[in-house]
Amino acid sequence: MSSEPIIAYFSMEIGVQSDIPTYSGGLGVLAGDTVRSAADLGIPMVAISLLARKGYFHQTLDFSGWQSEEPNIWVIENYFTEVNQRVSITIETRTVHIRCWKYTVTGNSDQVSVYFLDTDLEENSEQDRRLTDHLYGGDNYYRLCQEIILGIGGILMLRKLGYTDIRRYHMNEGHASLLILELLKEEAYRQGDKFILDKHRDEVRKICIFTTHTPVPAGHDQFAMDLFERLVHESYVYKQCKDTFCFDNRLNLTYLALTHSRYINGVAKKHKEITQQMFGAHQIDSITNGVHTKTWASEPFSLLFDKYIPGWQADYSSLRYALNIPLDDIWNSHQAAKKRLLECVNGATNSTMSMDVMTIGFARRATHYKHSDLVLADINKLKELHNRIGNFQMIFSGKAHPHDMAGKELIQKIFRIKELLAEDIKIAYLPNYSMELGKLLTSGSDIWLNTPQPPLEASGTSGMKAALNGVPSFSILDGWWLEGCIENVTGWAIGERDDALHTFDPKLYAQKLYEKLQTTILPKYYSDRNSFINIMRHTIAINGSFFNTERMLNQYISKAYY
Ligand SMILES: *Cc1c(COP(=O)(O)O)cnc(C)c1O
Repeated sequence: MSSEPIIAYFSMEIGVQSDIPTYSGGLGVLAGDTVRSAADLGIPMVAISLLARKGYFHQTLDFSGWQSEEPNIWVIENYFTEVNQRVSITIETRTVHIRCWKYTVTGNSDQVSVYFLDTDLEENSEQDRRLTDHLYGGDNYYRLCQEIILGIGGILMLRKLGYTDIRRYHMNEGHASLLILELLKEEAYRQGDKFILDKHRDEVRKICIFTTHTPVPAGHDQFAMDLFERLVHESYVYKQCKDTFCFDNRLNLTYLALTHSRYINGVAKKHKEITQQMFGAHQIDSITNGVHTKTWASEPFSLLFDKYIPGWQADYSSLRYALNIPLDDIWNSHQAAKKRLLECVNGATNSTMSMDVMTIGFARRATHYKHSDLVLADINKLKELHNRIGNFQMIFSGKAHPHDMAGKELIQKIFRIKELLAEDIKIAYLPNYSMELGKLLTSGSDIWLNTPQPPLEASGTSGMKAALNGVPSFSILDGWWLEGCIENVTGWAIGERDDALHTFDPKLYAQKLYEKLQTTILPKYYSDRNSFINIMRHTIAINGSFFNTERMLNQYISKAYY
């Protein structure tokens, strides 16, 4: 039986399971790994999110690589249990009834309940019934309604469920920060006041924690003030403190969270610096992201760890002991993971990838700054490397946001180059990137590629999944990789450490990438195999043992939750 939760974790998306489409990418996967580790560590936590009845979307890629989207329909009752409690909120002048569904995450020592809010009830208008259908769908109006449901509805639901003794509210990104409005109202009510005053804000600031994930100003949710005043019931009670959640005369959810949190952090050291520059007036700390080791260890590596590092599942830092695992065992486990990946790729596409060819994996949201096409910049150079230095094959995956046309064109471009290179280099693009595919890819590739434009990658976590499976990263230095990269020990850097200072030239990075493939990585893989495997072993011991959500949550406990 879990103790009374004292941490309420709010996130627009949570990936509790690969086939439950209540996540779109890194933010939701991190939230899932966070609650899984909380359950392992026995941290008294309860989590709140939105249902996403139609998921993010199901991705279809036509012959040219053009993406189209369909609803991702799933049977909620097969996974979640409905809870009896209902609450209602007012949006504009409409009453919106909210129910919720419970999913229980069971860990090594405890359980964490995750509640998904849902407005699809007969008593709601048709318009309101659709508000919890799509993750990141719709326009600004739809989005603000969702955020009202998550933040304000979420607090009301917690109270209704009997969680009255919550001591910390953790906002995973600004989407949830309207919860502050409800906490302010509760505090004013407690003190017998009609309007929100500074003294109420001081109380609320003692209990809120904010983690920001976005290193660009445009990535922060903002709404016109008149939309806020129209949609948020009793918005007049905030009139004396409106300037604390307005920025440039717009409701800014990041700003609201910044001005009402006792502890604020970015998700890697570099990201903290960038965030500090953006929001100079606030004290920003950093806690580098992690991944839930047990979730992301492939079966072959789980078995290997069982053999050599007994008890690793309850003590992830013990993965440091991987340095004592014989090279042959590391290699055999990796080949077993690679076999699973290639079987999936060869089954799903018409490629005929082979086990003894070095395999480069790349899976990311298809969006401009992630530059998925960077590795493909020079076709002739790629052919030359492949035919003269050493064979390699490449596997891509990733969705573009439905409104991101440039992102969709990026996928098409990869398809085009895939055809151009077909005679020489095998390339596959797997549709519908999910947690399951992510696990196959990060554990089954031989090297894990990442080419973000610095400093836009707040942290990134897929390279951490690769690391604990003995797969070295080959990446531009940004986000977590600035902390994880030890050249020729845990992987390889593309470019230098201070590259964020210069304008980003993808062609230049591509040259650096090819050069390192040519002089270091391909020769090591084919002619100095033991030294390659030794690097694999160090990625586990040095990075796998550290970049996990167990270490991350322990830092949240000592810095933010205490
Ligand atoms: C791990 C993961 C991510 C986040 O990885 P990045 O390195 O931040 O791109 C995104 N989507 C899925 C499905 C994942 O498993």
